[in-house]
Amino acid sequence: MLKGKVAVVTGGTRGIGFAIVKKYLENGAKVVLWGSRQETVDTALAKLKEENSAWEVTGMAPKLTDAKAVEEAVEAVKAQYGRIDILVNNAGISQSTPLYQYTPEDFDKVMDLNVKALFYAILPTAKIMKEQGGGCIINTSSMVSISGQPAGVGYPTSKFAVNGMTISLARELAPDNIRVNAVAPGVTKTDMVAALPEQMVAAISAKIPLGRPGEPEDVANAFVYLASDMASYVTGEILSVDGAARA
Ligand code: NAD
Repeated sequence: MLKGKVAVVTGGTRGIGFAIVKKYLENGAKVVLWGSRQETVDTALAKLKEENSAWEVTGMAPKLTDAKAVEEAVEAVKAQYGRIDILVNNAGISQSTPLYQYTPEDFDKVMDLNVKALFYAILPTAKIMKEQGGGCIINTSSMVSISGQPAGVGYPTSKFAVNGMTISLARELAPDNIRVNAVAPGVTKTDMVAALPEQMVAAISAKIPLGRPGEPEDVANAFVYLASDMASYVTGEILSVDGAARA
């Protein structure tokens, strides 16, 4: 479904991002995965190469909260492959600290990675996509961008902002043939969920109408669809992949 396309996936070393990278490779894309440290990037690359040595995958570890570093990394991908067809803004951090213990620094940390870093990556990439005649951007939102969350206010706030950025840029970039969508996962079995208090995860899982948390692959399938030509008329969409848990 993605034969010949060049994709950048942030937060591609584990969890949902790693599942996206793998599915993109299985579907014929060339992928540059970004992670927070070169060491975890190298481990992820080794795992993928072990699975299929023919997959065209490389990795980088730019500091996502540094606009200049991100711009340079985007330019390096363009220099390597000549184009960028798909940008997946997936890296994100979660916080469930109650408001009265929440610090301004906590809030900034979440907003810097979950919101501002998306803008930093989109800006140089959209310019490249415009020049080459089009492309597609997919952001990882969350079910909490619809339902809110009872603690850790920065995280749902950041994901509401992701939806706002997605819908607004879909409208602004449509004339340049750049589609912008988001996927809003529900509770998905990754390290991020393992880090949440057990009671919190159990309470959320019990309310999922499909009766189970999502697997990273469930979510990654939506990223394949949105990046493919099957979704050629889909833009400005926040696609829930949550077993109807948001309701
Ligand atoms: P994860 O913690 O397993 O993976 C997070 C990824 O982001 C990792 O690859 C990590 O290297 C990267 N990352 C974290 N901090 C970074 C930083 N400072 N700089 C660069 N990269 C950094 O989490 P996940 O569950 O796979 O989450 C991926 C995305 O899915 C996030 O945006 C998250 O908000 C969203 N999400 C997850 C769930 C869930 O239940 N797991 C639900 C809804 C939305």
